[in-house]
Amino acid sequence: MGEDAAPRAHSGRSFFGYTRSDLSPIVDPAYRATQLFEAVYRQGIHDFERITNLPKALRADLKARLDVGLPDVHRSFDAEDGVRRRLIRLSDGELAETVYIPDGGRTTICVSTQVGCALACGFCLTGQLGLTRHLTAAEIVAQAVLVRHLDIANPERKDGFNIVLMGMGEPLHNYDNVMRALAILHDPAGLNMSMSRITLSTVGLLPELERLAGEHLIPNVAVSLTGATDEKRNRWMPINRAYPIADLVAALGRLPVRPRKKIMLEYVLIRGETDTMDDARALGRIAASLDTKVNLIPLNESPDLALERPDRETILRFQAAVREHGVPTFIRKSRGDDISAACGQLKKTWADGKPEIDLQALGVGGS
Ligand code: SF4
Repeated sequence: MGEDAAPRAHSGRSFFGYTRSDLSPIVDPAYRATQLFEAVYRQGIHDFERITNLPKALRADLKARLDVGLPDVHRSFDAEDGVRRRLIRLSDGELAETVYIPDGGRTTICVSTQVGCALACGFCLTGQLGLTRHLTAAEIVAQAVLVRHLDIANPERKDGFNIVLMGMGEPLHNYDNVMRALAILHDPAGLNMSMSRITLSTVGLLPELERLAGEHLIPNVAVSLTGATDEKRNRWMPINRAYPIADLVAALGRLPVRPRKKIMLEYVLIRGETDTMDDARALGRIAASLDTKVNLIPLNESPDLALERPDRETILRFQAAVREHGVPTFIRKSRGDDISAACGQLKKTWADGKPEIDLQALGVGGS
């Protein structure tokens, strides 16, 4: 199979877009595909020539047909708290963000699913960029492989990380590529990621949520619910005009039990806009009806957003009011503050042509 003959679904030449069964036209017998997955994903070998348990002829054939190289890092930004944010350069020159987030014994890799985003949420810098294109499954998987390769030095911990689809883009808007990426990440011969260690963050695209409910592989689901009434949510999340809160709640209720148990409602606190006690009570009622958890995200302030985060006292009062409904309610810890480590901020600031010194000076909150 040459480059032109590669099935479209495979993301072209990149090895990271192939499931093991996709490889069967190239790699025969099937156990060779397992050896290949183990070498690339478990041993971190990113050169077919160096996978010496494969026959020489097969290695040469693979090299001619597929590319197993990691993406180029365009720029990398280190925060004082250990968060490392990268802009990676895609094959067509576009940039996508990937973030490594160490947290004590836990490591999380945040990956993007699109370049930009079409959903235009009013509190999000990525939304200001608009959608440039979907990422391929290979480009999604390669982000996790890259961060694991560069940042997770202890081999004992290589498999012990979580992945959140919370970078640039709306994952369910890029449904087929995201589902293919999940299948590749899940493969026991490869990274062997349990779906309980992957969280997909969505605004709640209803047709795709319904599709997800019928999938074999369903990750944890986080739903952005900034605005607890239709009136408020219409304002901050335009998707609500198509899929209002009652319909969203009904669709979430139809997810199978395990993913439903794991649903997290994410709510951005914006001073004077989404932080009133009425908002808290409305949010508490919704979360209680779904028997779910709430993650409060104080706004990541930015010079590009004429919005402010509430003060600490208001945030705590809001949390207490939601908790009165018996809902576990958390306040998201701010990470990577000094490197603009919030949704879409690095790409946005880079796109604006701001020098690195300005990035350091922004001092905005991370998510
Ligand atoms: S919050 Fe998510 S869905 Fe909304 S504009 Fe930003 S990236 Fe897109």
